[in-house]
Amino acid sequence: MTISRAAALQWIENCAGVIARNREYLIALDAAIGDADHGANMDRGFQAVLARLPETADKDIGAIFKAVGMTLVSTVGGAGGPLYGTFYLQAGGKLSGKAEMSLEEWAAALEAAVNGVMQRGKAEAGDKTMVDALLPAVSALKASIDENKTLEQALHASAEAARRGMEATIPLVARKGRASYLGERSAGHQDPGATSSYLLLKAAADTWADG
Ligand code: ADP
Ligand code: MG
Repeated sequence: MTISRAAALQWIENCAGVIARNREYLIALDAAIGDADHGANMDRGFQAVLARLPETADKDIGAIFKAVGMTLVSTVGGAGGPLYGTFYLQAGGKLSGKAEMSLEEWAAALEAAVNGVMQRGKAEAGDKTMVDALLPAVSALKASIDENKTLEQALHASAEAARRGMEATIPLVARKGRASYLGERSAGHQDPGATSSYLLLKAAADTWADG
């Protein structure tokens, strides 16, 4: 089982859709511990991605993801833009020239993407950021591969791990980004970036795994 170029494009379209549908939710989460722009930032970025997607329709998966990253860097403000830009650029770098990718290749791309986010943002596990949803998702993918799980099972396990990671940000005190300005008062709120990361990985599972 592999993920085709068409399926990769479909994921990007579905990323834009899930972010648009959750725009107000992400704004509300960011209003509690940030500046209430995460939903608007992400939606603006992914609408720009959608507008430029036809230009990449005949490209390989690496080129498609890199184009997404460049668009996000140039259209999304705040912390989220450069970080999600890095995420897609790094994933794309691992998939250069590929017209399809295996589960192992997706896991390697996601791992590179998360490493890129961590290098750029200097956040570690437990800092109450998107990293807290992304890292468990990578671990779950790798564990699923070790256990010879199917593509479908692995994708669902990674989305589920991201969801748990997202929920686990609620009691944390933020150590990175705007929420860290609140100190102890950031505890008790779910991190907006961890939430958008979960939504993107859930979209991957929904797009690439049937049922
Ligand atoms: P801003 O904080 O500039 O308004 P956004 O609201 O778009 O940007 O994004 C906020 C999210 O970005 C946070 O919820 C957090 O998950 C993520 N974030 C902020 N700083 C970092 C960082 N240094 N490393 C990783 N993620 C970060
Ligand atoms: Mg914000």
